[in-house]
Amino acid sequence: MLFERLRTLPLRLLFSGSVALFPVSTWADTAAKVAPDIDLKEVAPVPRPEAKAPATADQEPSPDADEANPVPGEPEAEPAPEFVKTTRFSLLGSDVLPGTSTRLAWTPGIQIAGLSQPTPVLVVNGLHAGPTLCLTGAVHGDELNGIEIIRRTLYDLDPEKLSGRVVGIPIVNLPGFQEASRYLPDRRDLNRHFPGNPDGSLAERIAYSLFENIIRHCDMLVDIHTGSLKRTNLPQLRADMTNPEVAQFTRGFDRMAVVHSTGSDGMLRVAATRAGITTVTLEAGESHRIQEHQIEAGVNSLTSLMEKQDMISRMFEWGDPEPVYYESSWIRANHGGILFSEVDLGARVNKGEILGYVADPITNAQFPIHASADGRIIGMAVDQVVMAGFAAYHIGTEAEVPGE
Ligand SMILES: [Zn+2]
Repeated sequence: MLFERLRTLPLRLLFSGSVALFPVSTWADTAAKVAPDIDLKEVAPVPRPEAKAPATADQEPSPDADEANPVPGEPEAEPAPEFVKTTRFSLLGSDVLPGTSTRLAWTPGIQIAGLSQPTPVLVVNGLHAGPTLCLTGAVHGDELNGIEIIRRTLYDLDPEKLSGRVVGIPIVNLPGFQEASRYLPDRRDLNRHFPGNPDGSLAERIAYSLFENIIRHCDMLVDIHTGSLKRTNLPQLRADMTNPEVAQFTRGFDRMAVVHSTGSDGMLRVAATRAGITTVTLEAGESHRIQEHQIEAGVNSLTSLMEKQDMISRMFEWGDPEPVYYESSWIRANHGGILFSEVDLGARVNKGEILGYVADPITNAQFPIHASADGRIIGMAVDQVVMAGFAAYHIGTEAEVPGE
């Protein structure tokens, strides 16, 4: 039932009644509409088609619009003594007023225009000034836990009590999501093509559109993923700990395992960090599944992050547990067969310990897989048929934070 509701959720988020579908080149400060203030906890109305607003030519986009003039005629609220009142936030051709939340839509413009499905974008613009935190989910269309992590995080925010803004894109790869596929329709992995190229491949164009229209408006970004190929991950951050801003940022996620990784070219995390946006990847659980304990861990860590960034006040404190930092490596199967694990995700293991076996169903041979070091199982394959070379266990060894 939950899964059914999730599959229908994005459709209900569409066409919220105020979405401007201008191509990016025609956006202009004067053309921006004020987004309606929507209580995100309320069930959205059934989507209905909306007439496309006429594009206005010969106007340059206004990238600085979000810090520009306050909306004329907007009544001045009583200034909170300890906060500076924030300004409107311009995104995707709409102005989101301070102290309001809304649903917008992003269209990468790669489909037949009349058939294109906009991707819902949730925005909470706090009444008080602060940073802009962005959350992206389902860049890989089969990774579902992040969709629900973003829904719970955004829908629980009170814009009147928020300092800064939170932008959530629960399903970045909508075509992949609809096909239950990690990839785009052209079989490319979107997370290898950032920051994209407006004249490039399908993946590069989608990446470019997302990056220019949304990601560049963020100060901080958490890109939420899960394990791939029948592997599951302990809730964990992937972060370039050699980047001082990123290293500092990871301290906000309490109780979280942090795995140092510089990432590779084309990843959203890498491209955004290079663009000056402090970014980490949050990994939670397996693809194709909705896992309650993983979702809870993700929501709790994002709540902690917003509190550490002075964006919200937590209702209660649960101590100040520090993240634990790991260096990591994969332990691979050396034989083909069926993998049977002896350890659970999160287990602490000693070097040489047997983690599982690969059993050959024809010869009856059994091949143990041993821990390569003392450490913790931070990711592992679920029991399945494997071939030699298959990455079976991701072992983390506790590490010092660089520079300490
Ligand atoms: Zn992923």
